[in-house]
Amino acid sequence: MMLKKIVFVSIVIFALAGISSAGEVQELSPRVSLCRDSVNGVFIESQGQVLVIYGDPAGKLDKAEKVLFTDSRRDLVWAGRNLVDKGVESVVPANQVDKFAKVDDFWSAFVRNRYHDYDQQTTKILTEPLNVSRTVHGGDVIEWKDLSVRVLDTPGYSRGSVSYFVDVDGRRYGFVGDLIYGDGHLFDLYSLQDAVADAQIRGYHGYAGRIGDLISSLREILKQNPDILIPARGPVIERPESAVNLLIKRLQAAYSNYLSINAGHWYFKDRYETLAKRALGSAADVDWMPYATVVQKRPPDWVIPIRNSRLLLSKDGSGLLVDCGSSAIIAEIMKLVKAGRLSGLDGVYITHYHDDHTDKVAELVRQFQCPAYSCRELADVLEHPEAYRLPAMTANRIANLTSLAHGQKKRWKEFDLTSYYFPGQTLYHGALLVERDGGQKIFFIGDSFTPSGMDDYCLLNRNLLHKGTGYFYCLDLLLKMPQDYLLVNQHVVEPFRFSKPQLEHMAEVLTKRTEILADLFPWDEPNYGIDERWARIHPYSQKVKAGQELEIKVKILNHSSYSHVFTVKPNVPEGFGLESKFRLFRLDRTYIGGQTSQLKFARQALIKTLNVVDKWRHIPISEKYLHHS
Ligand SMILES: [Zn+2]
Repeated sequence: MMLKKIVFVSIVIFALAGISSAGEVQELSPRVSLCRDSVNGVFIESQGQVLVIYGDPAGKLDKAEKVLFTDSRRDLVWAGRNLVDKGVESVVPANQVDKFAKVDDFWSAFVRNRYHDYDQQTTKILTEPLNVSRTVHGGDVIEWKDLSVRVLDTPGYSRGSVSYFVDVDGRRYGFVGDLIYGDGHLFDLYSLQDAVADAQIRGYHGYAGRIGDLISSLREILKQNPDILIPARGPVIERPESAVNLLIKRLQAAYSNYLSINAGHWYFKDRYETLAKRALGSAADVDWMPYATVVQKRPPDWVIPIRNSRLLLSKDGSGLLVDCGSSAIIAEIMKLVKAGRLSGLDGVYITHYHDDHTDKVAELVRQFQCPAYSCRELADVLEHPEAYRLPAMTANRIANLTSLAHGQKKRWKEFDLTSYYFPGQTLYHGALLVERDGGQKIFFIGDSFTPSGMDDYCLLNRNLLHKGTGYFYCLDLLLKMPQDYLLVNQHVVEPFRFSKPQLEHMAEVLTKRTEILADLFPWDEPNYGIDERWARIHPYSQKVKAGQELEIKVKILNHSSYSHVFTVKPNVPEGFGLESKFRLFRLDRTYIGGQTSQLKFARQALIKTLNVVDKWRHIPISEKYLHHS
């Protein structure tokens, strides 16, 4: 067997308005200077030597003694790597030492772990280890020359990060990583996705899961009485107290808005109250929407729930399955066949790509010799899961899929079937309206809603917030439906229906959320702060032979309402030759879905070919993206 090696191609995307004086060094006080770039570099002088915080992003320093890192994220550490590689001592958070020093472990496991991933932790992990000289914990003091640098544990934006505080030139400086950005902003929300142990919420369900830690860390920062904060990215903060308090207020507003119409409240009511208490102080601060006005005990007889699949049974005994995520479901279907209740399957409709809905579709199709259907927007991710980096991804491809256009109808037995693109729980999601002769109508909406609201608890599922996309789009569709249908979620036995005011209420809450997030993020458009994959390499992984040419695309979803120039800079590993320089290319629209016209500047940049000159390689491609002022 050939040895598989992993290599990484990463890209750096310079986006949005540049920093006017990128790379320039500015004096903050006689001994402290700041190099503002896409990551800040802070240089503190003493006795002819230099202490560096974050790094030297523009390569300004001839020498330095130490570089202090607050966090192991790849999109920060690059700024200090040049110094460490030249022999400068590195100081890193003890809680993250493996993410500096043992990154190979992460990546070799990632080939497997990228599938069925319910932890949803950042993949902004270094691709090469960094030499670690010293690790620090909260409470430690780093004595350097005449200065004492105090270390504070400040988890939140990431797990295990630290902040540093030092008194110099009569001012107290705080270096706080990405805990805050400028005047009360946060760089993004998806980095906060995490499990919440005391609420028994796992990573996949933990929308902004570290928000409680982040708020605590922000309060701890203020207790240090800093005069000035210099985050890892973004502007210097001259009024720490008002900036931090503003950020806390915005975070709480966003979280309360999120909880109030969330699907998880139906599954985990008590746990959701714990979540609310942790971040907001009280569950009473959430305006919980009452559950759907209609909730029935059971679906009609012709709908048979089998775990998280639903079997539609025709009068003549033939069946149509919705989703197939486990062998146990196939076994249950075989039992129905043996018992004479089911004569066979005429097909399987797939609502979305998550493994618990797709893992056994291929096996089912083989066993029953039936076609598999999905909406068109879902087809590519089902056929090529390896090309995507998404939560709960199946490793099993589904071949010979029949994809259906938005609104496409099909007659099956005594049923009219209509397939829709339905970007609810994820961007890649469909739904099937089933109308039975005689009037019963069931809308199989996958995992998109429960009676308590919307299933958007995993930020990495890409629930976009443009009018006419994501849940806005789903709510519009539900508002236009005839009012006598019932919704069926694949994990909820009870069919349900929201009233028109409830649907309108959810749309209003989403509109409000868009405004809150626009204030929270420093971006010109809030979707950048919730869409980790707005810039991505496609396909995510490819297998290639030595000497073979490889084409990689960079897909950029320009969320802004106006045109941007994105410069894409590839980071090609050793042994790879770049056939031509990467630069901005003509852009096509790449947004998927029935409402592309709503997104004026969704577009795609094509990256040129790489020559692969090594052995067989399996390439999980990682992005090191996003430089933003
Ligand atoms: Zn799902």
